[in-house]
Amino acid sequence: MQIKSAIFKMSAKNLEAAPDWQRPEFAFIGRSNVGKSSMINMLSNRAGLAKVSATPGKTQLLNFFIMNDNWSLVDLPGYGFAKVAKTEKINFNESVGDYLEHRENLRQVFVLIDSRLPPQRIDLDFVNWLGDCGVPFSLVFTKADKQSAAKTAATTEAFLAAMPSHLSGIPSVIRSSSKTGGGRLEILREIDARLKD
Ligand code: GDP
Repeated sequence: MQIKSAIFKMSAKNLEAAPDWQRPEFAFIGRSNVGKSSMINMLSNRAGLAKVSATPGKTQLLNFFIMNDNWSLVDLPGYGFAKVAKTEKINFNESVGDYLEHRENLRQVFVLIDSRLPPQRIDLDFVNWLGDCGVPFSLVFTKADKQSAAKTAATTEAFLAAMPSHLSGIPSVIRSSSKTGGGRLEILREIDARLKD
């Protein structure tokens, strides 16, 4: 799939305020600083579409973009901000939980995980929660350019091994780099396939 147009449509503070449309939605989420804004810019080929490095904790809105006039990319607030969370407890706002659980036109979630880190409890908890909600998701291991392919493969494997076994039927694992464009085609291909379902 080529991205011919990418337009920021609106921000919503919760599910009720989300756009009233039937467009299939693909949501992106991850811990603050995981590289989500860079990824959205890379996918859309638009340098400033999502703001890179907005202050952690400040971006608590659900942001809706219209892609190719027929599907929507949803930029969700990050979870587990160190400044907000008092404990290692997963901390993502209620609106995000509501959106993920109840948005009928949500087709798939891309969960971004920093490929340089060993499995983080907070990512595992989130993925576990998402799996229990029954929302299809893919894991995207970001910033793969920062280390060797072998190291990325090792952290990816470690994460999968740490995941609860009932989630082993996850749709896919993608290694990405917003610097090299790695993973872009895989993500777009996956979206394309789901649009044709
Ligand atoms: P967000 O908070 O998840 O939206 O993360 P950003 O997209 O703002 O990225 C956080 C920092 O990581 C920025 O300094 C980016 O330039 C850097 N970054 C993001 N993705 C990549 C990547 O794939 N490779 C490298 N080398 N740096 C990245």
